Amino acid sequence: MYVFLNDKIVPASEAKISIFDHGFLYGDGVFETMRSYGGVVFKLDEHIQRLFRSARFINLEVGRTPEEIKKALYKTLNANDLTDSYIRVSLSRGYGPIGIDPDLCKENTFTIITTEFKRYPDSFYLEGVDAIISNIRRNPKEALNPLIKSMNFLNNILAKIEAKKKQAFEAIMLNMEGYIAEGTVSNIFFVKDSSLYTPSLECSILDGITRGVVIELAKKRGIGVQEGKYIAEELLKADEIFLTNTSLEMVPVKRVNDTEFKVGEIYKLLHEEYKVEVKTYVNEKKL
Ligand code: PLP
Repeated sequence: MYVFLNDKIVPASEAKISIFDHGFLYGDGVFETMRSYGGVVFKLDEHIQRLFRSARFINLEVGRTPEEIKKALYKTLNANDLTDSYIRVSLSRGYGPIGIDPDLCKENTFTIITTEFKRYPDSFYLEGVDAIISNIRRNPKEALNPLIKSMNFLNNILAKIEAKKKQAFEAIMLNMEGYIAEGTVSNIFFVKDSSLYTPSLECSILDGITRGVVIELAKKRGIGVQEGKYIAEELLKADEIFLTNTSLEMVPVKRVNDTEFKVGEIYKLLHEEYKVEVKTYVNEKKL
């Protein structure tokens, strides 16, 4: 396996970074996860834009142009002979002495890891996954804004630990005001009376790229979409619930705590549309 480290492709076994890297010492860095289909990275521009935005939020110079990052990414995919892949791009503050002052680091660390995409079990899509409402609240945007896709992921990891203890796949976090925010690695949607609801960007969430695609697809289909503030009781009364992220695409939720849900028609329709959207995108980029 080959990875990209700073400015070149290297065998994964030789890709080493310092234990003084501030990404390791302090979680001081940002990242993106992407997915490629048939050799094309879906919504690549959007992911790269979000990487730059995350970096801007933490005052971190990317030090490369979007074009250079795209080239590096495709180079890594080609080196590994990958078409359907999972991609992780990371950018940390880099090597520096101990101490949190970002100016201690003179050069950032940039890595790209690509691995073969492992499909989730069919049961995820046909039957759904279990979720809990987590006791861990989502970081408020006034503290560590979830719009920053940061390496500082402990908020999400704590909720994931809770989900695992309760044999659930995903933990749905509320924000500090008590409104539904998002999952540990996903955005959440629910359907009530044929309309689609999802927490607004005001709710301390990541503006998921999949979330954006799903909202557009629903609008095109004439399905009403509301972005707002919702409490857990509203979620529990939903007709259907589903989660979105880049690698899962869209997955229905069959249980939240003790309440069961069916895999609904709107989920099925929108996931079919999502797959068509991916195909169209991939075919256009291949031309
Ligand atoms: N919310 C969080 C906290 C995430 O980590 C992710 C993705 O990993 C998402 C939402 C979904 O974002 P996207 O659709 O861009 O993958």
